[in-house]
Amino acid sequence: MSGIFGVINRSGIDEGTASTAYYGIFSLQHRGQEAAGIAINNNGTFLLHKRDGMVADIFDEVTLNALGGNCAIAHARGADGIVGPDGIQPVVIKSRVGNIALSCDSVILNAEQIREELKNQGAIFQTNTDTELILSLFSRNRVVSETTEEALLKTMKELQGVYALIIMTEDKLIGVRDPYGLRPLSLGKKNNQWMLASENCSFDALDAEYVRDLEPGEILSISKDEVSSIFYNSEISSDERIKNGKVCIFEYVYVARPDSVIDGTNVFKSRYEAGKALAKLHPCDCDLVIGAPDSGNAAALGFADGLGVTYGMGLLKNRYVGRTFIKSTQEQRELAVRMKFAVLKEAIKGKRIAIVDDSLVRGTTTKHIIRFLKDNGASEVHVRLASPEVKYPCCYGVNASSDKDLPATYMTVEQIGEMIGADSLGYISLECLKEALGGLICDTCSACFDGNYVAGKPESFEKSVHQVTNL
Ligand code: SF4
Ligand code: MG
Repeated sequence: MSGIFGVINRSGIDEGTASTAYYGIFSLQHRGQEAAGIAINNNGTFLLHKRDGMVADIFDEVTLNALGGNCAIAHARGADGIVGPDGIQPVVIKSRVGNIALSCDSVILNAEQIREELKNQGAIFQTNTDTELILSLFSRNRVVSETTEEALLKTMKELQGVYALIIMTEDKLIGVRDPYGLRPLSLGKKNNQWMLASENCSFDALDAEYVRDLEPGEILSISKDEVSSIFYNSEISSDERIKNGKVCIFEYVYVARPDSVIDGTNVFKSRYEAGKALAKLHPCDCDLVIGAPDSGNAAALGFADGLGVTYGMGLLKNRYVGRTFIKSTQEQRELAVRMKFAVLKEAIKGKRIAIVDDSLVRGTTTKHIIRFLKDNGASEVHVRLASPEVKYPCCYGVNASSDKDLPATYMTVEQIGEMIGADSLGYISLECLKEALGGLICDTCSACFDGNYVAGKPESFEKSVHQVTNL
């Protein structure tokens, strides 16, 4: 999973293009903190700066000032299972029709098959990334197509998988949302600057206006002269395309920033409503409701309101913790939790605590948190989860690795509660979670809860499953 952003100034001038791309991608770092980059179009010359690390460490004023141009795309990379610098984006290539840059948030399920086909036709590859594969396929299709958009459409017909793409050509900025609409992608605007972003929280950060989400299967093309779209499913109406969309339900549960609105549903509100529904489904006698920071906070607030119990702070998250802990021994794992969380002893001492988390994938962190709360004086710890039991691995790059890591596949709720040391455990039902999504204009993928893989499964399931640690 990753964050993608793009901006084009339709008057053709540079009104802080690089800094817009910088702040745009800065606000999407919750989708990926491994690496980042910006590619910018300076009158047909493409400049690129990217490397490992957080956005603020990669770019300084000098670098940004050197990146002049009227169009830029950016990328914040999440853990994608690709080792080393190969996966750092954007990727810039020279094709027969000029420079092209791509930022993508994707999992291509038939990647191996396409790569083999392309190799048999003489293509060469330097990496195993989706980015290079998509660009190679596109570039081949571009040679036999009238327009860039037509070539993209052909490329989409060959790809099986889920993706959001932002493409920069020498005169256009193009956004592509996969035919399922599983990955989010939205359009924003500030005066002459038109923007594309994984989530509309970027537009708020830039004081830009949120125009709309791209439709599933939409290829939206923005140039100096026009803004136009073509569609993968052109035979059906726009309403139907939207209604058939299958946005990942985990965007609302965990992934997206709470201030984002995706496909008509406000993320914070959906988490809050899920918490409220949870209070009805699994109430408990407690003195204080706390959130597992930070992803459980909104649902915890809803749970507390639903129960009529005080919501408060019990745990604080250390924001300055890197992601790499050595966690091979029990002692190291406990140390990692103490480094990551601080407990407010006075607030929890002698109290019956209900802790609400967005989800429980492996349960390792939750187990340590419960121990931690009890060691610091909580008399009881009840766990409530604002998403159902995660029973199936995600093959679309969002969460969890393989079946064996998912306790819900082989344990009952009671057994899981016992394993993590909770005094009680309750999950929201899928039905209630979907209800909590309120004004959602489309359908969802909820395969990790019900096994219904809306975009199909990869050729070799195990290999394509991406490892993401759920904390
Ligand atoms: Fe999202 Fe789960 Fe579907 Fe993966 S399987 S895309 S996490 S809903
Ligand atoms: Mg969490």
